[in-house]
Amino acid sequence: MTATQASTRPKPIPPIFKVNQGFWEGSKVGELRLDHCRRCDHIWFPPSSSCPNCLSTDIDWKAVSGRGKVWSWIWMHQRYGWAFDVEVPYLLVQVNLDEGPSFVSTLVGVAKEDLRFDMPVQVVWQERNENQSVPVFTPA
Ligand SMILES: [Zn+2]
Repeated sequence: MTATQASTRPKPIPPIFKVNQGFWEGSKVGELRLDHCRRCDHIWFPPSSSCPNCLSTDIDWKAVSGRGKVWSWIWMHQRYGWAFDVEVPYLLVQVNLDEGPSFVSTLVGVAKEDLRFDMPVQVVWQERNENQSVPVFTPA
């Protein structure tokens, strides 16, 4: 398959289930919503049906700041999926959100030489379909 053929296909995206529905609903309005425990106030990602801290199922969704800091990164020199017709190398980053959870995503709007550990970043959204946008990060 050529890159041109790949670019005409939609990028894959996780299906919406009850356990992640609040996350995707937040993505539609530009809010990063994470699971929040009403018993112990813990916030976590990825979504799950019980609190990983106290095992309570009394949970809701909380819109967090979307701010964080770059913890680590890697330049990928290989494409690993037919639908991701990105230029190589492309950047993967681990961002530690101000509220605690970590995200693996990408960083946009930064020159390679400006990337650094602890760089403050802010979430931005890339629309994939009418119900889902994907969080990526940009320098804050
Ligand atoms: Zn809890």
